[in-house]
Amino acid sequence: MWVFSAMNKKVLVTGAGGFIGHHLVSYLVAQGYWVRGVDIKQPEFEVSKGNEFLQLDLRKRENCDKAVEGVDEVYHLAADMGGIGYISQNKADLCSNNTLMNIHMLEASREASVARFLFSSTACVYPQQLQETVDAPALKEEDAFPANPEEGYGWEKIYMEKLCQYYAEEFDLPTRTVRFHNVYGPLGTWQGGREKSPAAICRKVAEAADVDGVEVWGDGQQTRSYMYIDDCVEGIYRLMRSDYGKALNLGTEEQVSIDQLVDYVAEVAGKEIEKEHDLSKPQGVRGRNSDNNKLREVLGWEPATSLKSGLAPTYRWIEEQVYLQKEGKTPEFITPQAGQQESEEEAARNVSVEEQPALEH
Ligand code: NAD
Repeated sequence: MWVFSAMNKKVLVTGAGGFIGHHLVSYLVAQGYWVRGVDIKQPEFEVSKGNEFLQLDLRKRENCDKAVEGVDEVYHLAADMGGIGYISQNKADLCSNNTLMNIHMLEASREASVARFLFSSTACVYPQQLQETVDAPALKEEDAFPANPEEGYGWEKIYMEKLCQYYAEEFDLPTRTVRFHNVYGPLGTWQGGREKSPAAICRKVAEAADVDGVEVWGDGQQTRSYMYIDDCVEGIYRLMRSDYGKALNLGTEEQVSIDQLVDYVAEVAGKEIEKEHDLSKPQGVRGRNSDNNKLREVLGWEPATSLKSGLAPTYRWIEEQVYLQKEGKTPEFITPQAGQQESEEEAARNVSVEEQPALEH
């Protein structure tokens, strides 16, 4: 039985204003950690449960130093990223933003002598030629080399994986590297161009009339596997607590086509949906799945939430956002209402350290 005491441990989560980082902060607080969240923006849908939230641009070295001050462990999730449409059209910005953040965060963590540093990598590091058919073999960790990853995003991630390895070998900084396969769930980006396929499909189905057509990118036969957010944060934590320093897949082996994903969402929504395939839109690799053999061996555990059961709360939450937006209602939790004072506790949590520049150049 795996037991670890979080008592008196301080941890940093970067990207805490984003989807996975926000959920991870909640999870770690529940485990008993003192948690500092850092992001260039506040969480969009819920106040952070962290003990402290610093709004910082981590492309700047001095901000990475502020972020790591006094913490024992670092979960580095901040990244400029989005769905396939976003990552295929913003390679220069995305790679330079993420490379700056990654290098500065790693070096700041080394100088601060943190005990562990976790890097969030991606299945996009796997070679494209291994993902050319819908039934391509599931991807094993060692398949990543020789490298031929996704243009832009994949190259930037695989380079940082190597940097983590070198820091561990030469500077004695214990690093953990997790390769996520598509993560979904409530409180994630659901519109605006950065959303991933499950959120985009939930939104389109929620917006559709009872019997209606929804646009599907590509021919719908492309395959993926999807991991529910609760499994994701538990897996991250288990990896951090393990002694395993090499890159590890974190995903499910439940492979579905995008058309199947649409059918599942329609079932949850109770709607009959016609699929309108748009072949002009980017669809990413043809087929991808996670091989979890190493994950089971290392952690003695793997994500257990089926896609259908995870899509139910995800769809309900996105459906509610669509409704609120249609009604012209905006989230009220971040900006206090007129005449309403921010409590001292809230003020302490939400510290804006500097005037933020826009993320884009
Ligand atoms: P997200 O976009 O919701 O969160 C990333 C956060 O990083 C955002 O809140 C963003 O504001 C922040 N950020 C960007 N630039 C910053 C800067 N200059 N300074 C400070 N913060 C900055 O993404 P997510 O889905 O939560 O992903 C978290 C991590 O997991 C990322 O590293 C991503 O590459 C990786 N990942 C996610 C998935 C997935 O399916 N969600 C899959 C593979 C890998």
